[in-house]
Amino acid sequence: MSDAIKAEVLERLGRIAGPEGGGDIVSLGLVSDVFVSDGRVAFSITVPADRAREMEPLRLAAESAVKSVPGVEKAMVALTAERKPGSQGSQAPQAAPAAAAPRHSHAPAAPQGQRQGGPAKAGVPGVAHIIAVASGKGGVGKSTTTANIALGMKANGLRVGVMDADIYGPSVPRLFGVSGRPEQVEGRILKPLEAHGIKVMSIGFMVEEDTPMIWRGPMVMSALTQMLREVAWGELDALVVDMPPGTGDAQLTMAQQVPLSGAVIVSTPQDLALIDARKGLNMFRRVDVPVLGIVENMSYFIAPDTGKRYDIFGHGGARAEAERLDIPFLGEVPLDMDIRINSDTGTPIVVADPDGAHAKVYRQIAAKVWDEVSRPMGEVRRTAPAIVFD
Ligand code: ADP
Repeated sequence: MSDAIKAEVLERLGRIAGPEGGGDIVSLGLVSDVFVSDGRVAFSITVPADRAREMEPLRLAAESAVKSVPGVEKAMVALTAERKPGSQGSQAPQAAPAAAAPRHSHAPAAPQGQRQGGPAKAGVPGVAHIIAVASGKGGVGKSTTTANIALGMKANGLRVGVMDADIYGPSVPRLFGVSGRPEQVEGRILKPLEAHGIKVMSIGFMVEEDTPMIWRGPMVMSALTQMLREVAWGELDALVVDMPPGTGDAQLTMAQQVPLSGAVIVSTPQDLALIDARKGLNMFRRVDVPVLGIVENMSYFIAPDTGKRYDIFGHGGARAEAERLDIPFLGEVPLDMDIRINSDTGTPIVVADPDGAHAKVYRQIAAKVWDEVSRPMGEVRRTAPAIVFD
């Protein structure tokens, strides 16, 4: 059944001309793998990055062509913009020189994902920097760190959004205490929800919580593209993205497709978690995304009764590793019940106890991340040595 639908979908897409002529979108190789499941069809079409916004009619044409196929109930068609370095139109709009912009200021939008001469990806208008927060494995506190870094940036005077791209377990609804469906403002554009002065969008707002989803490449792409480009983010200094844990294909696709300014890696001090963090570093290197640094989470434990500090997990591993790899060490966050309780009740510690020691740690980490990301363009970045593992 799915195969028949897929064949018919491709047949109908084969009647749609490519954006620059020269044939139809299928024979030009612009259509991704087509995913069909339960009457839902998802795929993406590659368009020139500099014309992505004019391409909406093409997307609509493809969508209606697909919806006309018997058996198709829903079509998710995303436009993806890829541009090979040196190809026509590769002079992406240049940003105002970041060097001239004071740090922690509302700098004008700089191009995301275009540092180090990597492939240019279409940016998100109005958003100066997209920063990924990633971890090699789950459960290390990546989402908690994302929320608190974002709130730390906000406390430091920046305009911030959070995009929860964790397809395996979206945590932003819980961390920010928000739920519900985002309102549609115009056409397909969604209004992000807002919490603690931050605009938030989560994959959790877009799928039913009790619907187990099997994410395939094109669906991940559609959902991501929608969250990035079909959300009224407005003017933001930083959009902080909570990435799914791990370093598999989904993560790689995201790192490749989202125009990232850089990535923050969260790790616990244990050796195992550090090995996983190294995989994360390698993943971002493969797609030319600068690694902004490592945060060591659950670094040490302070006993609430005596105030005595315990390095239960072998504190300091991430700092040593960062030094070894010549990557900035962004800071260490203790294992603390208050961090847990507050993030599990919708008010992360930076908001719940803004004058406390933990909030200070997160604000400092946020400031370092911002320093790294708003480094003048062209300044030589650390390129860590190639890491061999496994
Ligand atoms: P991940 O996104 O890596 O899966 P989460 O951010 O969801 O991890 O954190 C996993 C659990 O650990 C959550 O219950 C969270 O509240 C808790 N947690 C995270 N960081 C800390 C910390 N520094 N101290 C105490 N608990 C923490």
